[in-house]
Amino acid sequence: MDTGYHLMELPTKVLIGEGVISKLGDFVEDSARGGKVVVASGSNVASKVRRAVEAALPREPVWVEVVAADIRNVDQVMEAAESASCIIGVGGGKSVDVGKLAAFKLHIPFYSVPTSASHDGISSPFASLKGLDRPYSIMAKPPLGILADIEVIASAPRRLLASGCGDLVSKLTAVKDWELAHRVTGEYYGSYSASLALMSANTVLDNSRTLGSFGRDSVRELVEGLISTGVAAGIAGSSRPCSGSEHLFSHYLDVLAPESGLHGEKCGIGTIMMAKLHRIDWRRVRSALKNVGAPVEASQIGIDDSMVVEALTKASTIRPDRYTILSKRRLSRKSAALLAKSTGVI
Ligand SMILES: [Zn+2]
Repeated sequence: MDTGYHLMELPTKVLIGEGVISKLGDFVEDSARGGKVVVASGSNVASKVRRAVEAALPREPVWVEVVAADIRNVDQVMEAAESASCIIGVGGGKSVDVGKLAAFKLHIPFYSVPTSASHDGISSPFASLKGLDRPYSIMAKPPLGILADIEVIASAPRRLLASGCGDLVSKLTAVKDWELAHRVTGEYYGSYSASLALMSANTVLDNSRTLGSFGRDSVRELVEGLISTGVAAGIAGSSRPCSGSEHLFSHYLDVLAPESGLHGEKCGIGTIMMAKLHRIDWRRVRSALKNVGAPVEASQIGIDDSMVVEALTKASTIRPDRYTILSKRRLSRKSAALLAKSTGVI
């Protein structure tokens, strides 16, 4: 950013703790004010928390089932939310992304109620959707409020929580890429938001063994870390502190093998290799991911060697405006294979 100014948009309130879903009515009251409330949610999630959500709200909300994170689902939520006071996204990733973008387009408040902690979209200003002209997140607005019930999130499958750890660890190389871009291209760099994002990565790197137990305290730490990285993006005014070469690698795999692996899993694996390119301690990243039960080898998420090599050599092309270590190094197929083999990814 060379304009000399940027806008910081942040969530206004966060309610976190065990059983807080019962406080959802009070939490959204300022926005709801007797109007229609639309809840965007997946079918699994709805069956798990529907009763709790309905018991907490003063009036019955309109439920919209989110099947996929794509524009069609955004349109459906928007249709249901015409004349609504606010939208609540209840779920893991999809419902929050879809609800966030629908609310942004309708200029109404959005509340995020994560039921798992698999990536930082729960608090960030970005929405990650399929079927757009580009395979990375688009800028919307951060949620007005985030209500994170630790009791609900702790009961999510471990794989989702481990994936959240992968997304947190990825801030390590994202920040390195941002520093590099600042040096090479003169792009704006904010050390405050960078430090905030790094702090979240260190939560995993420093405490992976305890964190990997996914007891209530660990889950709370993970959720706070993910909320903080979303806030870091809000302070930076871009996804820079949260998304670098490791995310480009993950986005490229999304194109090659859309059904394989979760976002945080692919970012975690990418971070191991990008850390080596940045000449930082990639072994520490790898063992932290292992300790929390996240995959460290591409085969664990059904990605074969050739896809890894292709993603490494081509990832920088999907977002040419984002300068990262992959723009600097321009890996050949041979050097990409060497990198992936030497870090145990393939
Ligand atoms: Zn991410």
